[in-house]
Amino acid sequence: MRVGVIGTGYVGLVSAACFSHIGHEVVGNDIDPKIVSKLQGGESTIFEDGLQDLIEEGLENRRLRFTTSLSETVLDAEVVFLAVPTPEGDDGSADLRYVVKAATDLGPLLTNYTVVVNKSTVPVGTVPLVRNAVGAGATVDFDVISNPEFLREGYAVDDFLHPDRVVIGTDSDRTRPIMEDLYERLVRNDNPIDFVLPASAEMGKYASNAFLATKISFINFMSQMCEEYGADVEEVARIMGQDKRIGRAFLNAGIGWGGSCFPKDVQALLKMAKDAHVDAGIVEQAVVTNGMMRRLLPQKVKRFYNTDDLRGKRFALLGLAFKENTDDVRDAPSIDIVRDLTEAGAEMLAYDPQARHTFEKKMKALGVDTTNLKYAETAEEALTGTDAIIGATLWPEFSTMDMRKVLKLVGSPVVFDGRHIWKHPERLRKLGFKYVTIGKESDTLAA
Ligand code: NAD
Repeated sequence: MRVGVIGTGYVGLVSAACFSHIGHEVVGNDIDPKIVSKLQGGESTIFEDGLQDLIEEGLENRRLRFTTSLSETVLDAEVVFLAVPTPEGDDGSADLRYVVKAATDLGPLLTNYTVVVNKSTVPVGTVPLVRNAVGAGATVDFDVISNPEFLREGYAVDDFLHPDRVVIGTDSDRTRPIMEDLYERLVRNDNPIDFVLPASAEMGKYASNAFLATKISFINFMSQMCEEYGADVEEVARIMGQDKRIGRAFLNAGIGWGGSCFPKDVQALLKMAKDAHVDAGIVEQAVVTNGMMRRLLPQKVKRFYNTDDLRGKRFALLGLAFKENTDDVRDAPSIDIVRDLTEAGAEMLAYDPQARHTFEKKMKALGVDTTNLKYAETAEEALTGTDAIIGATLWPEFSTMDMRKVLKLVGSPVVFDGRHIWKHPERLRKLGFKYVTIGKESDTLAA
């Protein structure tokens, strides 16, 4: 099948590479010539496990191409995906400018009946909006449908190739067999394609992300209860998670949620609720709790040293990406940690296995004063002589470090663990570390 993918970021590039891997002929399109030229040269522009191999495979067997030309992308295509950004607008709503622009531009270029698919996360009502935008210039038949993406960054290729569900929001029967053929190799007997109303598909994506964000905020609320009442939030999460009705996933307490999706998608849902005069208190509170969690670790650092003035201290920040296995730092909690601690005068030496360059760019874009922030090439370099270790991303490289060796590197054996990276605090304490974390017993400087 001939497929066009407009926007080759985290979602579009993974979709393009995976569709070509399962046998389709795919053209990936991006407005950014730098991205396209890198991809044409066979180099992935993002870090995702397995993605580089799929790109090389697709270029080699010529089932995958990249171009900045929109007409080349839609020429003879049966399906064209929109995988462009939908960032948060000033009022919290999803900014549909990129979606509408791409849809408007592609309309006149369609050469045959085409299914135009919204893969971007968009509010309810975007299917008709895109239909109008495409229709303004189209001279051939087309349909517009919704196919929200549920992949997780860090596991994107695997998630795309083994989806829990494929959701298609369509009101056109003509699109059904086409989408069935497209996804045939990915859906399994127990997970058929779920054909639903366009509005349900669009709402279902926001509902899923807002629910997961709320689940994290709930366990973070429990982490504060655990601290007050002497319980251990990891044990509490285990007790909850063993209940099939609850499930263990997304019950990891810590420095809060971030990333490219949850913050903006939750805001977009809140805006939709506001517009419809629906009380959104449950989700609003999840946002409030999250804001509090994102500032908690720096507060714990100050409390530990019993001062707001951290001048003269140098910390090793382990992890910049908003989660493990990705180089994405959009809305990463590490941004708040760096901001709060450097503002208090601390120097930070940060290390991340993949996200250093994206973080550097992000801090520049945000205009954060980074005079007190330096980057290390290795964890060892960051740890050498440090006054404390601050763990912010659950990279396996950190959780498997030999803490006996680490002990010899650090200037002072103190760990502030924002993500329960180190699973055995008692072993750290035995080695002589002071250990401070969220939702369970923490050491004080004196004790
Ligand atoms: P991204 O910023 O990584 O990539 C978007 C790409 O689109 C960029 O490379 C940009 O240059 C390109 N682009 C913008 N306008 C274009 C145009 N007119 N023509 C061609 N290319 C254009 O974004 P992303 O993370 O891939 O997200 C895309 C959409 O998918 C968003 O709506 C997002 O909410 C949704 N989504 C993201 C994830 C995720 O984990 N990142 C998961 C599910 C859904």
